[in-house]
Amino acid sequence: MDAPPDRSTIWAYEDGAPGEFYYARHAHPTGAEAERRLGELDGGTAVLFASGTAASTAIVLGLLEPGAVVALADGAYYGTGLLFTELERWGLRHVLFDQTGPPPAQADLVWVEAPSNPLLTMPDLDAAAAHAAPVVCDSTAATPIQLRPLEQGCDLVLHSATKYLAGHHDALLGAVVCRRGQDAERLREFRTRTGSIASPDAAWLLLRGLKTLAIRVERQSATAQELASRLVAHPRVSTVRYPGFGGMLSFDVADGATARAVETSTRLIVNATSLGGVDSTIETRHRWEPDRVPEGLLRLSVGLEPIELLWEDIASALP
Ligand code: PLP
Repeated sequence: MDAPPDRSTIWAYEDGAPGEFYYARHAHPTGAEAERRLGELDGGTAVLFASGTAASTAIVLGLLEPGAVVALADGAYYGTGLLFTELERWGLRHVLFDQTGPPPAQADLVWVEAPSNPLLTMPDLDAAAAHAAPVVCDSTAATPIQLRPLEQGCDLVLHSATKYLAGHHDALLGAVVCRRGQDAERLREFRTRTGSIASPDAAWLLLRGLKTLAIRVERQSATAQELASRLVAHPRVSTVRYPGFGGMLSFDVADGATARAVETSTRLIVNATSLGGVDSTIETRHRWEPDRVPEGLLRLSVGLEPIELLWEDIASALP
């Protein structure tokens, strides 16, 4: 049994000197335990942040120099591109590339996503690892159960732990898992300076989520695989994107009006954003990323509900 979250913000000095824990903006026992377990799963040193986006911010502002160029996978999580655009004011630049091939030569950091959300492409990790620059793999949707990017030549793994790792739509947090100890040190320092550590409660919910991660991901993958093949055969569905593993898929219906009708007709599947929870969610993505996804695209995150109930829900929502 895990100890309850330690919500202290201060810990007494030991013999007049700060110990491992002294002020919660720097580190706290619940977070340190969650970092230890996540680090083991991914095979590196984990650093927790207040959100996946805070973790991404720390990577680019904490590890790069002003004027650096990030080669970002085209089709990676929309918010990552928005973040890098926001940081242009501070001298960050980014270029998009097709992650199924090699990254452009002129890059100080390569950023891939496995699989990309919501277009579900997989990166060519060998081509990324062959690049001279460090490689970040956003492995939010794969999780360490299905992919260990550090073993495939990546330097940093990014997780929105808000999704599968915590797994219940009730905790916002992120993590970077580092191959090199010095990157973890630098990120910890940046986190202390900028105040972006995950709270003890969120870290505790991550600890709880990690206990069931493998079993959740296996079940979500098996259900998603079966739903993907049923959707392929459905006459109202034109395209199904599914990389063959994981709990996220996307599919296209005729147009935006049809997609909106589907997302508002499901009863079991919640019409909400985000992914990776035990409760299935569905939404049209065009509302958030109109410049790059078809109007008829629906993203489905498969939860733990019985497959026949999910299929009945989807099939009755399809016109
Ligand atoms: N990376 C991916 C693939 C995501 O889907 C998300 C959120 O949807 C993020 C990063 C950002 O994570 P957060 O919402 O925890 O800041």
